[in-house]
Amino acid sequence: MDTIEKRLQAVKSRIERAAQAAGRDPRDIVLVAVSKTFPPAAVRAAHAAGQRDFGENHAQEAAAKFDALADLALAWHFIGPLQSNKTRLVAERCAWVHSIDRLKIAERLSAQRPAALPPLQACVQVNVSGEASKSGVPPDEAAGLARAVAALPRLRLRGLMAIPEPTDDVALQRRRFESLRALKERLVAAGLPLDTLSMGMSDDLEAAVAAGATMVRVGSAIFGARPRAARAAG
Ligand SMILES: *Cc1c(COP(=O)(O)O)cnc(C)c1O
Repeated sequence: MDTIEKRLQAVKSRIERAAQAAGRDPRDIVLVAVSKTFPPAAVRAAHAAGQRDFGENHAQEAAAKFDALADLALAWHFIGPLQSNKTRLVAERCAWVHSIDRLKIAERLSAQRPAALPPLQACVQVNVSGEASKSGVPPDEAAGLARAVAALPRLRLRGLMAIPEPTDDVALQRRRFESLRALKERLVAAGLPLDTLSMGMSDDLEAAVAAGATMVRVGSAIFGARPRAARAAG
């Protein structure tokens, strides 16, 4: 069996075991294969093994990959920092954006989403790690941003995303993910129809699934190790 296919199976088994341990249905957890830094051939191998959802975090690299793989029916997830001059690409080519942290970016995505496509599925990125991280809105600003995003016509607000600081401390991983889930539950109680928690990566997906993740974003465990600089950029 192909290495990528084997690793993909291993990641699916991890998700299944974590779900079962938490009394959850593994089918409620979508695996997004994060293909950043890997060539189109790696995506083709994962596609041949049945994978359909893929994540990219860098617009320029993503644009080349979208073109090279245009013959495949893939669902692209944009999971990286977004600048104003890169929103059109995401609006036109992606099914999901996980990294909304400013209203201005969300407004551009909504305005640029082609009428022929369904609304762009969107998550607000929250900084659950305080000073240990810079990306995402502070938790106390998430409700305001989520409400504004929910009002945009061509975006469909689905939930929250977080990238906690890397740590081997499983209890800390768990606390960060639980805090995102608690925040989502507060927003749901306040009337926002959220059904998605995008959290968990190669090294902490078990903790994320235990805490209620409905999407895990997994790169290196499927495609192999990335060069150091690219890892830091994630
Ligand atoms: C790179 C990246 C991932 C995947 O990280 P791995 O540790 O390789 O699984 C997940 N989410 C985001 C936002 C990333 O940039």
